[in-house]
Amino acid sequence: MMTPLERVNRLLGDLRLARVDFDTLFAGRNSLTPLESVELFLQDQQRQRTLKQDLLRRKRAGLPAEKTLDSFDFGFQRSVSKEQMLRLSDMTWVEQAFNVCFLGPPGVGKTHLALSLALRGLDLGYAVAFETLESLMTILKTAEISNAGKRRLQFLHKAALVVVDEVGFMPLSPAEANLFFGFISAMSEKTSLIITSNKGFDEWADFLGDATITTAILDRLIHRCEIINMSGDSYRIVHHQSIIN
Ligand code: ADP
Ligand code: MG
Repeated sequence: MMTPLERVNRLLGDLRLARVDFDTLFAGRNSLTPLESVELFLQDQQRQRTLKQDLLRRKRAGLPAEKTLDSFDFGFQRSVSKEQMLRLSDMTWVEQAFNVCFLGPPGVGKTHLALSLALRGLDLGYAVAFETLESLMTILKTAEISNAGKRRLQFLHKAALVVVDEVGFMPLSPAEANLFFGFISAMSEKTSLIITSNKGFDEWADFLGDATITTAILDRLIHRCEIINMSGDSYRIVHHQSIIN
């Protein structure tokens, strides 16, 4: 003989509904009508589902670290202002599929600021994805032949905001440059991009290998774009940590 609780738990499982702690949920609510009890139960299901979807959205985004504007020292990095970043962190530009490019040498905080905007996007409920140019290349190259690549590419296409980090570190072959162009082209005016690059736009032809494709990529990228040129010392080098002081 199953108890009522066991029967309910089995039904919840069969219907793919979330587990419920009925004692806690109904504590102090003895006077509810049957309909009010159902309402309370459904509200709890809805709350749990939203929570689960939110966790999944954050996990799928693939942010390598949680960085915020609060933990960014604008006194150290003076080529970008806190006001400018606060304005961007209202994220209204995502609605208009604007792009943001952080350009500058290693260690000046490009990835940190990109991640802080990505996290804001997640907090505001947007579908966000993070890739390095290298991981993006793997996705684009394997999308035809692997399910994982295909699924991730579909996810990027559906996202409201995609971060492409470390553009310019590795030189691209002509085929790769073409894939990158195809991606930027497909995203343009539909999905917001945050690009970080250690190379100024005038140096992009060096790693893209072809002036025509560089122009075509930059044309689409910069059309609707906030460009943030960063300079200064590497935070990593100035704030280097050692094991033995
Ligand atoms: P980049 O992408 O420009 O090479 P990162 O954003 O990865 O640099 O920064 C390197 C490290 O230094 C990260 O851990 C980052 O959080 C930290 N960092 C960089 N700039 C600052 C800053 N102005 N305030 C606080 N932390 C910073
Ligand atoms: Mg970086």
